[in-house]
Amino acid sequence: MRQVIETHGIAAKKALGQNFLLDLNLTAKIARQAGDLSACDVLEVGPGPGGLTRGLLAEGARRVLAIEKDPRCIPALEEIAAAYPGRLQVILGDALEVDPLVHLTPPIRVAANLPYNVGTELLIRWLTPPAWPPFWDSLTLMFQREVAERIVAQPGGKAYGRLALLAQWRCEARIVLNLPPEAFSPPPKVSSAVVHLTALPAPRYPADPKVLEQVIAMAFNQRRKMMRAACKGLVPDLEDHLIAAGIKPTDRAETVALEQFCALARSVKAAR
Ligand code: SAM
Repeated sequence: MRQVIETHGIAAKKALGQNFLLDLNLTAKIARQAGDLSACDVLEVGPGPGGLTRGLLAEGARRVLAIEKDPRCIPALEEIAAAYPGRLQVILGDALEVDPLVHLTPPIRVAANLPYNVGTELLIRWLTPPAWPPFWDSLTLMFQREVAERIVAQPGGKAYGRLALLAQWRCEARIVLNLPPEAFSPPPKVSSAVVHLTALPAPRYPADPKVLEQVIAMAFNQRRKMMRAACKGLVPDLEDHLIAAGIKPTDRAETVALEQFCALARSVKAAR
């Protein structure tokens, strides 16, 4: 991979969140975390020079759709496409703007070493689609360790918040791999982790997605406030709704469990 980067002159750019994986044993290991890909199309965001792309193809992905913003990476990716005829489609574009669905056939899995600057935004989009189940069966994603911990966090800890609740409401989420900065070139300042999320067929607890998202956003907007203050204005007689959901008005959002947030969202929805 070092040779590929040199040949194509792909010096890492910070603005594009470029920290490349060069060890093909490691990219194969990450690809394996996505499970058996032989019957799946895989969406990869930010393939860069293609280390993980190679891993996904070598591990047997039926097809890979790779969306990359940096034109300098395209020739390197086209070389991989030539080595795996008909199995790799490369799109030059911004993953926040390209609609991948027109190019993919279900079942679809997502696997990516995400650019840090757009990683959380993409994850939230994937977790809040217009309908559930979503277009993807699973997401296997590299994040900064701190973001990975926010995804799998449980109530009571500092990492617990909107990401944990959105992820765990409709997915099974776990950290499957930890990587030190030296695994990347150039090494980032922080450690990284791969999170594997599997879409559940239905939410763990019923709730209207829009109302639940609103409740969670309000509750965590001012983290240290009690629920009765943080959610003020959500609904008339807020305290009655909190109590009906099993939440003490003096509780802080970081101690409230997913099940209780869902109960609160149902109670609010019924009152509207
Ligand atoms: N997957 C490669 C690897 O593991 O070596 C590269 C990972 S690097 C952390 C992130 C990649 O995402 C870079 O190649 C960068 O150019 C690309 N990227 C950044 N923003 C993007 C965007 N909005 N859409 C698509 N790709 C983007």
